[in-house]
Amino acid sequence: MAEAPLATTLGRHRANFRPLTPLDFLDRAVEAFPDQRAAIWHERQWTYAQFAGIVQAMIDTLRAHAIGAGDVVAVMSGNRPEMLAAHYAIPAVGGILNALNTRLDADTIAYILAHSEAKLVLADPAGAAMMGEAAARAGVPILVFPGAPGSAQGLALLDAPPLTALSLAEGIEDELQPIALNYTSGTTDRPKGVLLSHRGAYLNALGNVVALGFDAQSVYLWTLPMFHVNGWGHPWAVSAVGGVHVCLDKVVPQEIFRLIAAQGVTHMACAPVVLYMLLQDPARSARDPSRPVRVASGGAAPTSALIREMGALGFEFIHLYGLTESFGPATIQALTPEQMREPPEARARLLSRQGIRHITANTVRVVDESGASVPADGQTLGEIVLRGNTIMSGYLKAEEASAAAFAGGVLHTGDLAVLHPDHRIEIRDRAKDLIISGGENISSLEIENLLHAHPDVSMAAVVAAPDEKWGEVPCAFIELRSGSTLDAQAMRAFCRERLAHFKVPRRFIFQPIPKTATGKIQKFALREAVRDPGFSSQEPQS
Ligand code: AMP
Repeated sequence: MAEAPLATTLGRHRANFRPLTPLDFLDRAVEAFPDQRAAIWHERQWTYAQFAGIVQAMIDTLRAHAIGAGDVVAVMSGNRPEMLAAHYAIPAVGGILNALNTRLDADTIAYILAHSEAKLVLADPAGAAMMGEAAARAGVPILVFPGAPGSAQGLALLDAPPLTALSLAEGIEDELQPIALNYTSGTTDRPKGVLLSHRGAYLNALGNVVALGFDAQSVYLWTLPMFHVNGWGHPWAVSAVGGVHVCLDKVVPQEIFRLIAAQGVTHMACAPVVLYMLLQDPARSARDPSRPVRVASGGAAPTSALIREMGALGFEFIHLYGLTESFGPATIQALTPEQMREPPEARARLLSRQGIRHITANTVRVVDESGASVPADGQTLGEIVLRGNTIMSGYLKAEEASAAAFAGGVLHTGDLAVLHPDHRIEIRDRAKDLIISGGENISSLEIENLLHAHPDVSMAAVVAAPDEKWGEVPCAFIELRSGSTLDAQAMRAFCRERLAHFKVPRRFIFQPIPKTATGKIQKFALREAVRDPGFSSQEPQS
């Protein structure tokens, strides 16, 4: 019989194609580094073989609760080994990891649980206190991790028997199936659910390995909340190379400095707000600058003063930029050898730019309104648009919003930037009506809607005011109905009862709100007002 022509045997084949999934990184790590440390939490540590046991125990639990293909599992937890394990166990059974911000209010949690149709909730004790009621209302079962590492109460997984082999990746049939669902506040009042695929997570994690220089000697301190865009993919990236995850419950500067010294931390990542906290804390005197720590920072623009001061303390600053829709960081600002020889001030200024695309991100362009690239002149402002394999699949149950985000075949970021002659981008402003406080998104509209619900408010507008510590804080402008004597204190109490605390405006300013001829609020005028050097983001004390 004649042999089939070669052309039909070329191409995708069982032997040469396998869905890309970051679960494969743990399969390999267990094989390559079974006795190497995988995680440290409080006084305990777990090897990769022991961590594999925790993951398997979580998988068994999920299966016992009938979690399978396409099921959303919501998790609200601090940074601890079970939270790391959830990044492997939930997708391994075909489920979708929905990590939730631990500071969310009950109303938003209830909305997310209903919108995502979550089948199960996992939580640490603090998360259970936050979520318990919403989960009960939504009729979703909740499993709670124990309070302390040694405790056998609740969903106790940390003493599971070790395993020397795992084959999590085998269960993934389609690399485009969702691995995670992350809710992000955009310009709408309700958060949108960003769906991220196995394929994108795999590529993004490898991009992180290259960008941050992770290897088997890396000791990674979890100063970034794992709930924020799945810790920018670092739960997968650090394990890919057999590095150590040092889990941190809370951002407490003294504890961070202690762990850096005690565990020989080589890497950490966080929003600039954490770095400001470190610089302002007396515990910084314990820092030995001769033991460098690489710090990847993003989520909001860092100032050059911050970068310079961190440098003096032995923190090597890496600047990242991205968004939930791009699996976290999509660009990196790394300096050329010539730029490294610049004086500290000039170097810090260059580092405050957002940089150039990750090795695994395809295109990062700055475009004008017609979609044409702006000249690389460091002056012409345009919108950053992204395209490639590390972009979300879309927003869950929000076709219009997905179509708008992908208009013209690119992801619109709503961030306004210039392109420098060396092809590095620099953010100058934001077109979207978003407030970023301490690295977390806040929708102005959500706050405005609440303010409008107050019977004394006739019109309200909320903008981001610059703030030294948090980067930005919400600031509310309010027009009252005639005869009302409402003051800032009463307004604050009203908001505190109904909003997560980080979303409560820092200042309430009672004054006529500038409008266009057609009655649209002139937000740019309000933004200009709060950017005035004489403006304080904090309520004046009377
Ligand atoms: P999120 O989806 O919560 O991660 O927020 C993404 C948004 O944070 C971006 O669209 C930017 O507006 C902002 N952002 C992220 N990284 C940076 C950065 N390095 N510099 C300035 N803004 C940033």
